[in-house]
Amino acid sequence: MSKIYDLHCHSTASDGTLTPEQLLQHAAERKVDVLALTDHDTVAGLDEARIEAQRLGIELINGLELSVTWNNQTLHIVALGINPDYAPLRAGLAELQAFRQWRGEEIARRLEKKANISGALEGASAHAKGKLLSRTHFARFLLEQGHVKGMQDAFTRYLKKGKSGFVPSTWADFEQGLQWITESGGQAVLAHPARYSMTATKLRKLLGEFKECGGEAIEVVSGSHSKNDYFAMANLAKQLDLLASAGSDYHGPENPWIELGRLPAIPEGCTPIWHNWN
Ligand code: AMP
Ligand code: MN
Ligand code: MN
Ligand code: MN
Repeated sequence: MSKIYDLHCHSTASDGTLTPEQLLQHAAERKVDVLALTDHDTVAGLDEARIEAQRLGIELINGLELSVTWNNQTLHIVALGINPDYAPLRAGLAELQAFRQWRGEEIARRLEKKANISGALEGASAHAKGKLLSRTHFARFLLEQGHVKGMQDAFTRYLKKGKSGFVPSTWADFEQGLQWITESGGQAVLAHPARYSMTATKLRKLLGEFKECGGEAIEVVSGSHSKNDYFAMANLAKQLDLLASAGSDYHGPENPWIELGRLPAIPEGCTPIWHNWN
């Protein structure tokens, strides 16, 4: 029997709704053999996750989903197998977390001023429970207050680029971020590459630079990719000699259409990122 891998998911350390412990328990129910916990811009959930993983016999990969800026565009890089104690990485993450706090305050100011919605900072912070603040927490607040019909609607109407609650942001520098990952012993994976609405030419340019800076893989199979995307990304991985990764991007049971460890196989001809693990 081949192992079940899920190399992208979130806990309450960022914008997921299960605690690291609950997430590992859910992974065990879903028969996941190898799980990477990849919270946005934090490694804070890994210690708790590791304890539960050991108890349940799940192989836990130390992960992270890093927010970076490339050519004025926000991209996500999944880091796998990092040393979470590597000092430059930790310092970089601390800066991103402080930026997220400031951005949260600014989102709230803008929602108040432009959309006449008050209490957003307190509301979102209550969802974040003192942990890292994400737009997802603002979306949950907007939904709970009846300002929107669903999470997607919250982004479409208030939180995405061009909308009243959007704050233009500069995340970690692309090259710098890749350096934190590779120098801490990790492998860098471009997350959900089909989701950036880039032309094929631009995506190739990005992946060229990604490889030059030490990037090794792209998510071919992702909870946020369509079936067509799997094949397009598989072809790209083959052509550019990149490894293929697979992750659900699970955020919790509230999104029942995305489940942990229930991913289709990586298309034929691609080399999975785990091919030489162990
Ligand atoms: P942030 O990194 O704080 O800007 O938030 C990004 C997160 O918001 C992503 O990781 C998703 O979890 C969530 N997100 C972004 N766009 C959408 C959307 N259209 N619908 C639902 N969730 C979204
Ligand atoms: Mn998220
Ligand atoms: Mn992402
Ligand atoms: Mn994610």
